[in-house]
Amino acid sequence: MSPNSPPTFTHRQTQATKPEPGVNPLSIAPRKNSERGDGSSVSLIGVRKFKDMPLSQATQRGLAAKKFKELTAIQRATIPHALAGRDVLGAAKTGSGKTLAFIIPLLEILFKQKWGRQDGLGGLVIAPTRELAMQIFKQLIDAGSYHSLSAGLLIGGKNVKDEKDTVNKMNLLVATPGRLLQHMDETPLFDCVTLKVLVLDEADRILDLGFAATLKAILANLPKQRQTLCFSATQTKSVKDLARLSLVSPEYLAVHAESTSATPPKLTQLVATCPLDKKMETLWAFIKSHLTSKTLVFLSSCKQVRFVHEIFRRMRPGVPVAMLHGRMKQMARMKTFETFARANHICLFATDVAARGLDFPAVDWVVQADCPEDVPCYIHRVGRYVLYISQILTLFYRSW
Ligand code: ADP
Ligand code: MG
Repeated sequence: MSPNSPPTFTHRQTQATKPEPGVNPLSIAPRKNSERGDGSSVSLIGVRKFKDMPLSQATQRGLAAKKFKELTAIQRATIPHALAGRDVLGAAKTGSGKTLAFIIPLLEILFKQKWGRQDGLGGLVIAPTRELAMQIFKQLIDAGSYHSLSAGLLIGGKNVKDEKDTVNKMNLLVATPGRLLQHMDETPLFDCVTLKVLVLDEADRILDLGFAATLKAILANLPKQRQTLCFSATQTKSVKDLARLSLVSPEYLAVHAESTSATPPKLTQLVATCPLDKKMETLWAFIKSHLTSKTLVFLSSCKQVRFVHEIFRRMRPGVPVAMLHGRMKQMARMKTFETFARANHICLFATDVAARGLDFPAVDWVVQADCPEDVPCYIHRVGRYVLYISQILTLFYRSW
């Protein structure tokens, strides 16, 4: 982040009124321009645009540079509470802007405390997958580019020695649980006693990926006096367990709670049934008939992904094929991730590592060649992509 912008408060900053605990700012009608007055006393309630929020100029510039103007629903619901220093448990569909909903408070809270490079670790974001951590890190760097804070990324697959040299100097860290705990255990002088804000992104997933024990160990290393923000697409019971572990009387803010379906309405959802022994042929026929589409095919295991990718690659369908699964080396994962994000016509075979929080623009088809394990898994697989399109095809097999 750039060191050259001195901290400056906007004149409105100190006079903003906070929402009361238990109040969802979304339930209050937006204020009209005429009610805004001269800015001498500004309420956060009902604010729809970033420029009307009492944010530091550095954050405002970062947001403006990325052309973010209006807050999304989850941002309106959670940012005021987070800025007021409360613990937040936010749930909203994938693609609804949850990342900025915690990045903005992270930057602002440290900014308000006049946090500097020498003050140590102030904010920590934990994400379940490396790709998601990288994506969060990128948004953090973008939004925080005018702040003079340092930020680092701790993910597996990279050289741990390189990280050890810099990890102690960071004010903000984005990390996967395993690598973070490794640093807590092995890196001399790395401690988190100064931590002010902890963020858990895709919080329910951090539990169901089997991270529960790791997370408990991490939490034991963090100061009890801190603010905790948890975000997730689906608010499951396990998230509530998590809340019990680490949150202090949190604000529960679920933005999609009142909507009738958990998947966006624009989505076309199709189901095809075929005999089990025709699974490969059906998938092949689908890919051959969609050569100018960007397709994401979900399979159930790393082995399946490798197998299908290998045979389809050799058979040359006429569209580039790629694979993404958890056993790949980090460099290869990053390369596939970028290739798929950029390409217009491509078919990616993936396990559920690709289902969480990743931002792949303009996917035409999501094909579930292996069924999702449960309803939240289905929602995660489709939720992201339908912002831009889309169709989802689920294949079912019969054994007769
Ligand atoms: P989620 O974590 O809820 O799945 P993300 O935070 O990844 O969603 O955001 C999805 C997309 O929406 C990203 O490309 C992000 O840049 C964009 N976005 C986030 N907030 C806003 C906003 N206020 N206005 C416009 N676009 C936004
Ligand atoms: Mg997300």
